[in-house]
Amino acid sequence: MITLDQVTKRYDNGQVAVRALSLEIPEGEICMLVGPSGCGKTTTMRMVNRLIEPTSGRILLDGEDVTDVDPVGLRRRIGYVIQQVGLFPHQTVTDNVGTVPGLLGWDKARIRARTEELLDLVGLPAEEYRDRYPHQLSGGQRQRVGVARALAADPPVLLMDEPFGAIDPISRDRLQQEFLRLQETVRKTIVFVTHDINEAVTLGDRIAVMAVGGELARYGTPGDILDDPGSDFVADFVGADRGLKRLDVMPIDRDAVEEPAVVLDVGLTLVEARRQLDAAGWVHAPVLADGRLVGVLRRSATEGDGASSTTVSEAAVALDARVGEGHTLRDAFAALLLDDAGWVAVVDADEHLLGVISAERLHEVARRRAA
Ligand code: ADP
Ligand code: MG
Repeated sequence: MITLDQVTKRYDNGQVAVRALSLEIPEGEICMLVGPSGCGKTTTMRMVNRLIEPTSGRILLDGEDVTDVDPVGLRRRIGYVIQQVGLFPHQTVTDNVGTVPGLLGWDKARIRARTEELLDLVGLPAEEYRDRYPHQLSGGQRQRVGVARALAADPPVLLMDEPFGAIDPISRDRLQQEFLRLQETVRKTIVFVTHDINEAVTLGDRIAVMAVGGELARYGTPGDILDDPGSDFVADFVGADRGLKRLDVMPIDRDAVEEPAVVLDVGLTLVEARRQLDAAGWVHAPVLADGRLVGVLRRSATEGDGASSTTVSEAAVALDARVGEGHTLRDAFAALLLDDAGWVAVVDADEHLLGVISAERLHEVARRRAA
């Protein structure tokens, strides 16, 4: 969809911001441009919509050289979101979002319908927000309006330059998750600039790591880059905890889970529960009621008087080591550390137990997928 072919930008003062950069960005994917400050990320992005002209090399959009396209028409096909948003302060949210459709000559009713659809899509209910002015919104809400505005004329390509850079960490986390959900709906080809490797790993289908001097240090999927940074520069940039970050991009699937050696129904007596635990050599077992995970039974709780007349339901305790299907192996690892059980239970949306992941299993799955 977007091809950069040996693109170089030398500014008038002689500064080379981007050097012989070649990249292929497939349609419908999010490509993260990441690297330290001054490595040419913004320059690269602005060459795609011709806010900056390359010194040499070619940039193709859907096979067409962008330098052959009228820049105004080009920018209507490319949504652009920047950190300070650049909303018009004296215009309402509706007018801000409708800017490009207005320029394209859409009629009022169509613009209004499109604006409302987009506000709902970015999580700002239209009735509540359409008549507000930018100063009546939080930073995160302004950023959402910026995204809605960039999507207004349904451009196939979005350029986003550190859009969440000025947002507090908690709102940022939420915006990132919303952004991924939004992308599932809109499936745009997105170039996203960040200096934050965690953001790049969380959001990117692919990551282009750039080094100062505007050279491409590494291009690949987050998994590939974390497994094999390929150079000391990239290894340093992704950080010594790249093994943990790798777990972030490994979803828990049904292959990852194992059948627990014992599962105990709430109705069993403690004597029977202990017999089953001992037969399996386990000291903690998941406890189920109607197939749903309700807690854990520890072997120590099966000892003492009355074990033959007490049921598992009376002795089971809450289990912190649980994680929902669709979460990542990092979530599984975090949950594993919260409990003595030595395994983490994986449940579906209805709390049905799908299986467990032990510490050994986690290690094995992580290494197998890395190989
Ligand atoms: P990043 O977005 O990665 O921080 P930029 O693309 O903004 O980096 O800048 C890359 C390099 O080009 C920096 O060294 C910056 O100082 C320089 N630069 C950016 N814009 C200009 C300009 N208009 N004239 C001269 N040098 C510039
Ligand atoms: Mg920049």
